Parts: sequence; C-alpha cells; structure tokens
Amino acid sequence: MSIVDTRTPNPKSFVTGATGDWEMVIGMEVHAQVSSKAKLFSGASAEYGGEPNDHVSLVDAAMPGMLPVINRFCVEQAVRTGLGLKAQINNYSVFDRKNYFYPDLPQGYQISQFKQPVVGEGTILIEVDGEEIEVGVERIHLEQDAGKSLHDQHPSMSFVDLNRSGVALMEIVSKPDLRSPEEAKAYVTKLRTILRYLGTCDGNMDEGSMRADVNVSVRKPGGDFGTRCEIKNVNSIRFMGQAIEYEARRQIDLIEDGGTVDQETRLFDAKSGKTRSMRSKEEAHDYRYFPDPDLLPLEFDDAFVEAIRVTLPELPDDKRHRFISDFGLTPYDASVLVAERATSDFFEKVAAGRDAKAAANWVINDLLGRLNKDGLEISESPVSADQLGGIIDLIGAGTISGKIAKDLFEIVWSEGGDPGAIVEARGMKQVTDTGAIEAIVDEIIAANPDKVEQAKAKPTLAGWFVGQVMKASQGKANPQAVNDLVKSKLGIE
Ligand code: ADP
Ligand code: MG
Repeated sequence: MSIVDTRTPNPKSFVTGATGDWEMVIGMEVHAQVSSKAKLFSGASAEYGGEPNDHVSLVDAAMPGMLPVINRFCVEQAVRTGLGLKAQINNYSVFDRKNYFYPDLPQGYQISQFKQPVVGEGTILIEVDGEEIEVGVERIHLEQDAGKSLHDQHPSMSFVDLNRSGVALMEIVSKPDLRSPEEAKAYVTKLRTILRYLGTCDGNMDEGSMRADVNVSVRKPGGDFGTRCEIKNVNSIRFMGQAIEYEARRQIDLIEDGGTVDQETRLFDAKSGKTRSMRSKEEAHDYRYFPDPDLLPLEFDDAFVEAIRVTLPELPDDKRHRFISDFGLTPYDASVLVAERATSDFFEKVAAGRDAKAAANWVINDLLGRLNKDGLEISESPVSADQLGGIIDLIGAGTISGKIAKDLFEIVWSEGGDPGAIVEARGMKQVTDTGAIEAIVDEIIAANPDKVEQAKAKPTLAGWFVGQVMKASQGKANPQAVNDLVKSKLGIE
C-alpha cells in the first residue's frame, strides 16, 4: 500500500515522552460478519450459537471433492457496504487461497481476496471534539471465517467447533489516518452505525460479529511513519482505547530507551490492560497466496451494482444533516439521534407535526436516559412514539406543566395507557384558573410578612413565593400564571 499522510498534526492528540512530543498513527482492520442466513460458499446456516458442529456442511468440513459455490447474497452485501462507504466497486475481483495450518481450518487454507478485492477505496467521516475528520478506507474484501478451537472443555483434550467455518466476513481495512484512541473508537463506532443502517452486519461485538485488529505506530509529529505492531483480540470499543494507549506508550518508552520497535503481532490482555508479543509479523508471501482454482473470478456488471444502489437507505451523515437543517437541531443532538436507525425513526415519529426541539429533548434526555437505566433497546421501549407525542401535546396545550409531564412519563412507562386519559382520570391537569391560584398566593403572602419585605427589597426573592405556590398546588398551577400573580401582588416587576 502506498501511504499518503492526509492529516495535519494536531497538538491536542500528542503524547508526551522524555524527548518531547509524539504522535500516534493508527490503522484498523475490522472483520465484520456479513448478515446472511447461509455461509459464503455453502448452504449451511450462518446463525450464531447452536450446538458445536450443528451448522456444518461437507464443504465447511473440507471433505475431499467438495466444491465451494459463491453465495450471491453475500456478494450483494459486500457491494452494498462499499456503496455505503462511497467506495469504488470492482466489477472484477478474485478469490485467493491464504495457506496456513491450524486445527480449526480443515481446508488448510482460507479463501480470501488478496490483490483484487471486491471493494476499493472509500471514506468514513468521524467527528471528534467537534472536528469532522475524513478517514480513508483502503479496501473491503470477502473471506471465510475459520472454526473455533475449544481448549477448556476437558483437562487433556481440545475440541474443534466448525459452526463458524465458512461464515462470510468482510474485512474492512482503513488507511493509517487515525491519530488517537478517541479517533479509533469514533471510527469503529461510526463504521458499526453505517453497517447496521445498511443491514450488512449486525455489529454485535459480544457475539464476535465485529472484531477489530488495531495497528499502532508512533512517530515524531508529522515525521516519517514508524514501524507498526498489530494488536489482535480487541473485542470491545473500550478495550480498543486501552490497548492503543498502552501500546503507544510501550513503543515510545522503547524508542526513547534507545531500542527499536519490531513489527509483530501482539495480543491484548483485558485483565492486565497490556499487550504482549504473540508472533513476529508474518508477511503476505509467507501465506503463498494464489487464485483459488475452484472459483471463477467474481464478475458482475454495472446493472448489478445499480440495482443495489437504489435500495440504499438514507445514511447517518445525510440524516444528520437533514435533522440539523430541517428540524433546527444542534449537531450534537442530531448525532445522538442518528446513531441508531431505530432511534432516528422513533424521533421522526414523535417530531411529526410537533416542536422538533421538544421532541429531541424528550427522546434524548428522558426516553434514552430511562431505557439506558433499565438496559433496554429502543425497540423494547414501553413508551411508544405516539404516547410520547401525546405527552408533548399536553404540555404544548398548557394542559400539564413540564414537571407534571415527567410524572406522567413515568406512569405511562410503568403502566401504559393514553396520556390524555391518565391526566383526566388522575386530576393531573394544570390549574390555569387565576382565581384558584390567586387564593393560594394570597394565603402564602399573608403567612409570610417578613419574606414579603425581603422580596420587595430584593425582587429575585420572589422566586421563593413561586416555589411555595407551586408546592401548595402540588405542581398543578400554571408556573407562568403564578409568576405573574406573585409579582403583581408584591408590587415588583
Ligand atoms: P497487512 O495486511 O500485512 O496487515 P496492510 O498494509 O494491509 O498490512 O495494513 C494493515 C493495516 O495497517 C491497515 O489498516 C493500515 O492502515 C495499517 N498501517 C499501515 N502502516 C501503518 C503504520 N505505520 N502505523 C499504523 N498503522 C499502519
Ligand atoms: Mg492484516
């Protein structure tokens, strides 16, 4: 790969060493499991879980004479991903054999794509500290997953589970355009969001359907690229940040002590937060790549690509811009709402025909906050978009105050029901009848002559009376009406 440095060094992300500032250089190789019912070259189920060796065809077990047959849907998914990353789609690509031995690889080689991948260069936009950064994608290729060795089932035996053998993966390789752990985390988060919008990978890191290998090197700011280490086994976004911090610091200390970084593959140990050497870096030629003679080159025409392009959904960047320009949301609120497609859909339902800013506040602060507290997904929300919209309408109409609305939200959350009917049935309506409010104001003023004197001298103390009246009305008095009445009764402006 010829590497072009597209970034201007940013002092905010420099790391301090004994000899001055250092800059991290990070590139990511993300393995994303293609959302598909069947495997890449066989009809066996690609579903997660199941009993060991339940989802294995003769092809996946590499029985002699079995031949791979490409799964057209997986190819469509890779092209769809490429289009979503505004990448070049290669109408001609080649499957190669990557040869190595491991007990969980019955073929003795992995079918992958080497020199001619199905998708070429693309880009992913990330936002860190309010700055928008364009990160280059080098390529996306299709390949098979290997099986899994099980070492801890028996004291003296290891087992092999081939359920994953042959499952389709997309390897999405970034350019070394990232300069801090925050950027690397934002990159993987954004990639995950886009894949989920596209429906090409479920992005579930716990189940291993998205795995990242992180390449890290250090250099003097703006200088030549240093030697990189590749860190494997980073299976959460939080660990990724830790692994990069640790690895960059290790390299800086090593170089400052007069040593040099060896290009190697390292393992991240989540328990200690450290990386350790696994093997010296293998080179591509070690794998004896050659075109798989069992598979023809992968060829499709422009019509195949265009037919996929027309089915693309609105992607998160476009949606975010639309939310900012059409709804007047802040960039931050827009980002939160578009992070999950289900959240943005929910928001749009609530916002339809209503004050979008209020809808955004309720969805972000109240709904997402509450879901998070109970560990629920938005698809599992006990409060529907219609119900939340109903609550917002009641505030807008002056029927309930903002404070009562929070109580109402809690009731709808735990008991369900129509917000308007609940307000009726439980007498939660806001009191706008000035006569009734006036009586309470008079009562409180009469009972607190000293406070009246104080408030006359210092008008900001009128707030105390407003608070007392609200309390006496059990939050049902209209706060604006109370405010106006208190001021006029006290004779202050
Ligand atoms: P390989 O296939 O041998 O792992 P690649 O050239 O495909 O090597 O690069 C793998 C990853 O390493 C890419 O994500 C790339 O951005 C990243 N990378 C390349 N050079 C550096 C470097 N000097 N520092 C950090 N990352 C790098
Ligand atoms: Mg690699």
